[in-house]
Amino acid sequence: MTTISAEQIRYDRDHIWHPYSSMINPPPVYPIVSAQGVYLKMSGGQELIDGMASWWSTIHGYNHPALNATAHAQIDKMSHVMFGGITHEPAIELARKLVDLTPATLDKVFIADSGSVAVEVAIKMAIQYWHALDKPEKHKLVTIRNGYHGDTFGAMSVCDPINGMHEIFTAVLPKHHFADRPEIGFHQAWESSDIASLKSIIEQHHQELAALILEPIVQGAGGMRFYSPHYLKAARALCDEYDLLLIADEIATGFARTGEMFACQHAGITPDIICLGKAITGGYMSLAATLTSTKIAESISAGGAGCFMHGPTFMGNPLACAIANTSLQLLNDSQWKPNMQRIETALKSGLEPAAAFNGVAEVRCLGGIGVIELEQAVDSARIQKMFVKAGIWVRPFGKLVYIMPPYIMDNETLDRLTSGIIEVLHRYLKS
Ligand SMILES: *Cc1c(COP(=O)(O)O)cnc(C)c1O
Repeated sequence: MTTISAEQIRYDRDHIWHPYSSMINPPPVYPIVSAQGVYLKMSGGQELIDGMASWWSTIHGYNHPALNATAHAQIDKMSHVMFGGITHEPAIELARKLVDLTPATLDKVFIADSGSVAVEVAIKMAIQYWHALDKPEKHKLVTIRNGYHGDTFGAMSVCDPINGMHEIFTAVLPKHHFADRPEIGFHQAWESSDIASLKSIIEQHHQELAALILEPIVQGAGGMRFYSPHYLKAARALCDEYDLLLIADEIATGFARTGEMFACQHAGITPDIICLGKAITGGYMSLAATLTSTKIAESISAGGAGCFMHGPTFMGNPLACAIANTSLQLLNDSQWKPNMQRIETALKSGLEPAAAFNGVAEVRCLGGIGVIELEQAVDSARIQKMFVKAGIWVRPFGKLVYIMPPYIMDNETLDRLTSGIIEVLHRYLKS
């Protein structure tokens, strides 16, 4: 099928929920029929440069020959088999790759089926750990404002309480502690006052705290904010001092997006539990993983339950694991570090002109992430239409026009993407 009919678009509009969408007068959705490299092809034939990597995931581009070949080969063996009482090579090899890639102490792997589930698993691990150590009172979490950790209940309970979904669900969400967000930016001079709020919460409540959960360095969907590595270092020290586990949610930042393989490495720290997802299969399938240390895993297993209490139906799905293995191999074999520096340089110079526009608050870039923060929330439907007309796929939210392109995007295409954004934003802000 190379075109999508008007009737099909109407059917979609009448029957399908899109992410965070209304069923009354929803904003338009754009029909995509195929994708190749860094381009999305619309019904009707127009091509768009993909600035979003399908929400951080499609790092090697679409329709990648090696990923396709792996998918075909694995389908011909088995697409799926249950993981209870059974194992298979794709899962074993994935665990090996993740253990090798992550910091040395993280060596026990839970293979989950989506990012939100990986976060639920991390939270359960932390709570089960203290329970097994006979400290069941340590069952609360502390986190920082402006975070995003997913849409399921446990994850939602640690999302930003204001721009997250707390208001509607407040009566049913577990109550956790929220520290002020870090204000000092990635490149700014550090002052320890930035972490005073987190410090005072931990000092007061550590007896009931199981873990600190945060997105290291980059707060993604909660505001696309880049904070100081010193904050992360100081947070790690507080967790050590007061006996809290540190959960690093690297679902968005992991696999080189910020210029290091994992964002924690900017601060030289190791979390107790790490959540990975999004880019893990190169954007081919839903898959995620939660890793922890032998010490935590063995403590959990020595507890009253005698096991870790989670096991989704599609846990360790062979097709997803096989594709993840090839995706991670591609990343490992690439010159990802200089490549991310190349992308950062291109995003900085390409987006910089927006800093001079009336209505733009800040332009900031880190690794493969470029953000233009406006003073007012954008009219998404209107600006999206202008982006599509300009041949680029950019999906703003709130005050943010931001991109995180596939790692394979060359400089010429990055330039077309960023100049498209600059040109559209200029017209949008003037009218
Ligand atoms: C996207 C995201 C999640 C949720 O992942 P899903 O696969 O959408 O469930 C969790 N944490 C962070 C930091 C994310 O960016």
